[in-house]
Amino acid sequence: MEEIDAVSKEQKEKESGVNAEIEKINVFKKELDAEVTAHEKELAALKGERAEMVSRIDPAVYKTYMSLLRDSGDGVAVTTARTNSVRDATCISLHSFMSKSGKNEEIIQCPQCRRILYASEE
Ligand SMILES: [Zn+2]
Repeated sequence: MEEIDAVSKEQKEKESGVNAEIEKINVFKKELDAEVTAHEKELAALKGERAEMVSRIDPAVYKTYMSLLRDSGDGVAVTTARTNSVRDATCISLHSFMSKSGKNEEIIQCPQCRRILYASEE
């Protein structure tokens, strides 16, 4: 009888240990769910901001931008020659010209890598 009581006690302790672990997991799951909800809200807000910005861009420029993004391989559509991972000679000379003129008023695409370039101070 005592042996049975000992086994039963051990089993109860194990069960309560398992239940405590399940409770910890549930708390952690709730935290993760809250994080996911927060990120989903942030994503929806950013998508809204993006849609608003896109509405202010010339549709032809946006179309070019999206095709560059899709085709670039590294997700870079707009760059300075200084930070362009391709760093072709055409970019570099165009960038030098743009930096001297100090203007970013028109859309300039590198004829070689097709990326949209903007002048930056170096
Ligand atoms: Zn280029």
